[in-house]
Amino acid sequence: MTKHPVVIIGAGIGGLSTGLLLVNKNINVKIFEKSRQVGGRTSSILYKNHILDNGFHIMPFYKKSAIYQVMKDVNIESRLKLAIVGDIAFYDGSGFHKYPKGILDVLQMSLIPFRSRLSLLRILLPMAFTSMKKTEELDKTPLTQVTKRLDYHSKRFFDAVCMLAFADTTDHISLGEFARTIIRANPFKGGTSEFAYPDMGGYDRISQVMADYITEKKSDVILGKSVKKISISDGKVTGVILTDGTNVETNCVVISFPAYHAINQLFDEGVFDKEFITQTNRLNKTTSVVEVHFALSKQIDSRQVVFPVGKDYVSKGIFFISNITPSVSPPGEHLIIVGTPVKPEETDNPSRIKEIVEQMKKELSEIYPDFNMALLWERGMAWKLVEAVVKEPGLVWKNKMPHSVKNVDGLFFVGDSTISYGIGTDSAAHSSILAHPKLMNFLDR
Ligand SMILES: Cc1cc2nc3c(=O)[nH]c(=O)nc-3n(C[C@H](O)[C@H](O)[C@H](O)COP(=O)(O)OP(=O)(O)OC[C@H]3O[C@@H](n4cnc5c(N)ncnc54)[C@H](O)[C@@H]3O)c2cc1C
Repeated sequence: MTKHPVVIIGAGIGGLSTGLLLVNKNINVKIFEKSRQVGGRTSSILYKNHILDNGFHIMPFYKKSAIYQVMKDVNIESRLKLAIVGDIAFYDGSGFHKYPKGILDVLQMSLIPFRSRLSLLRILLPMAFTSMKKTEELDKTPLTQVTKRLDYHSKRFFDAVCMLAFADTTDHISLGEFARTIIRANPFKGGTSEFAYPDMGGYDRISQVMADYITEKKSDVILGKSVKKISISDGKVTGVILTDGTNVETNCVVISFPAYHAINQLFDEGVFDKEFITQTNRLNKTTSVVEVHFALSKQIDSRQVVFPVGKDYVSKGIFFISNITPSVSPPGEHLIIVGTPVKPEETDNPSRIKEIVEQMKKELSEIYPDFNMALLWERGMAWKLVEAVVKEPGLVWKNKMPHSVKNVDGLFFVGDSTISYGIGTDSAAHSSILAHPKLMNFLDR
């Protein structure tokens, strides 16, 4: 057993989940986080008394998620009160249509004609009942391989649910990853299609609960400290150097931010061979999005999420955050966020962003005639380089960054760029579950 603490770099969901599982085994950890708050990409801010997430964040698979599993493993799941996100609808220009919660709901989905529902079921049913192992054979195949055979209506369904798989287009999702999502959403296979959000508001609430437990266990979550370098000697980790020059001794380091950044930033040349670096850099696939928070003086819809369907809509998802939990907004005010994928160059162009925001406002006022009257303020955000949650066919699941590397003893990787199922924060927590036995093996030596 190591006499030094395990150093974890980053206090996002991946780093904190790893920390939780280790402190639960009485292993001392030191988490260094360069930002002044926990949560990583899920961190929130307080703006005009509303809690604004860093873009819309939602927990897929509710109590079947890897995040919930990690919390259950350490017995702290009751500390995180979750609101269910279940009232989801499509809007197709003429009206609202219920989003299917289970596979059989597809039969009643009024968004598309009956015949299209049947052809959709013919695709979804075999997926929902196949094995996880079998899905791996489809990891290099794009989802479009099956959707291209579909009629216009069924294709529209896939375009709309793309947003829930956190991909910008259907050709970016691997059929294998999509099938795993369908299996995990299948109640007949012990799954759930429910989504969740922290009841107290702010997706980083999850990270806060995790960080509190880690400090209760007498380990450290140190904010505002950035790691500059990982020291390696004779193929073994010997410590980390912080940007303020401090040396921290350790023989075990876990990197929790995207591996393709880490291997280019934290190591002396020659630690990894060129082929490995090229391979890891392939994971650096990004998407660009514009998301706009709108604060309203009245509730314009009682639903929680609405997906406008059809190519004409710029708004791809409307998330009524204060309908999920009122705690994100001050009394009497309501918060929504509307998102759309964009081309990378559009994020550098303020007049294009303004145009997108104006188009979103136009669409919202068409769907909701009270929107303009109720609008208090708006706040747009544009991300050029959002690490793509779902990267592309071929770069999923076991083809992501491994949790350990042969040539450096004591070095581990977790987070959404590493081996794990593929949806966002679920994937970050899942990577920690998978990496944990490997870490324990190393620490028990
Ligand atoms: C706009 C947007 C919307 C999203 N929506 C969803 C959603 O609805 N649902 C979902 O599940 N996922 C969503 N995601 C994805 C999700 O945010 C990420 O998959 C997840 O947060 C990744 O967690 P992580 O721990 O792997 O990495 P991160 O959260 O990036 O954590 C890594 C941490 O390491 C820190 N760090 C980096 N370098 C150093 C250093 N040298 N020293 C110290 N610290 C360092 C960083 O500051 C960061 O806090 C979304 C992402 C974005 C950007």
